[in-house]
Amino acid sequence: MTFREILQTVDVDRLRGIINQADAADVRASLAKKRLQFEDYLLLLSRAASEIIEELALKARELTLHHFGRTILLYAPLYLSNECDNQCAYCGFSQRLPEKRVTLSPEEAVLEAEVLYRKGFRHILLVSGEKRDKVSIPYLKKVISNLHRKFESIALEIFPLEEDEYRELFSAGADGVTIYQEVYDPKIYRQVHPVGPKANYEYRILTPERAARAGFYKINIGTLLGLGEWKEEAALLGLHAAYLKKTFWKVQVMVSFPRLKPSGAHFQPLHPVTDRNLVQMLCALRIFLPTAGFVLSTREGSEFRDNLIPLGITQMSAESKTSPGGYLKKSRAEEQFEVSDTRSLEEVTAAITQKGYEPVYKDWDKGFIS
Ligand code: SF4
Repeated sequence: MTFREILQTVDVDRLRGIINQADAADVRASLAKKRLQFEDYLLLLSRAASEIIEELALKARELTLHHFGRTILLYAPLYLSNECDNQCAYCGFSQRLPEKRVTLSPEEAVLEAEVLYRKGFRHILLVSGEKRDKVSIPYLKKVISNLHRKFESIALEIFPLEEDEYRELFSAGADGVTIYQEVYDPKIYRQVHPVGPKANYEYRILTPERAARAGFYKINIGTLLGLGEWKEEAALLGLHAAYLKKTFWKVQVMVSFPRLKPSGAHFQPLHPVTDRNLVQMLCALRIFLPTAGFVLSTREGSEFRDNLIPLGITQMSAESKTSPGGYLKKSRAEEQFEVSDTRSLEEVTAAITQKGYEPVYKDWDKGFIS
């Protein structure tokens, strides 16, 4: 059964009812369990759970330490292109905006990657808009094969592909796919993705499954916080991650927490998500999915990012530029969104160390850390 089929059986009103009717005793009963069912997870998203958030945070911290130790893996995004055939209402790369458009050549991508390599990054995330005639499969294969000898991990945050296309890119040396559904609520999805290939909700939601079947063993999903109502979005995101973990048990399933940020699109969040909401969602997910990797980008501010480290974060980006050519400052292309944490890599690693954690650049470094 695909996740799309599972989603069709979900009664969102019922989920909402469970979340809204929970009391502190229900939440504590779920917290006391060794293994949570989906309904337990829903209770952790409730208002009652928010009132005892310190108890959630304590359990989230314990589970993270148990499964991941005191390490934070650092990665950096490399933007290949800001050209796009979609008109996502919230994005600075939307086709409808009169921005300067840039697609790096494979050679320019190598030069950008060299900057990141020299800084110490070994995990890299290739990002692009959806412009298939510019960011084609042969183009991506060339970029990946140019980089894969140097970088331990190459993940893709690009547009959804067919399974055989994913297979080609996996063979070229990529190992991870980041694909956010953006919003699970189909009505809002249609509203904010009015035209272009991304308007196809069904195709997007099946993307992680196509990538996993093609061999990708790091799959990172997320919902763009600020589009849908956060509790319902968190519920469906948790269900999606649990489905992927169960169906593709060899895959490292990861969850990201992107929150809407100002961009050239001047889009206002439809359902704003507060810091407290985000902390609750993160703790609830950690308790529900103790072994899932959690990823936090520079969308969030430095102090907030530092405070989230002990609660479940396992990977962070640092010193990110969100425009193609941003590291060499060779183009004046617009950013996809405003970065909030503008600290240097050295400052981020110092902050991680100060929290009692070890910043690492390669997965296997973890094996040497007690
Ligand atoms: S979010 Fe992605 S698909 Fe949508 S406009 Fe921006 S780059 Fe294009």
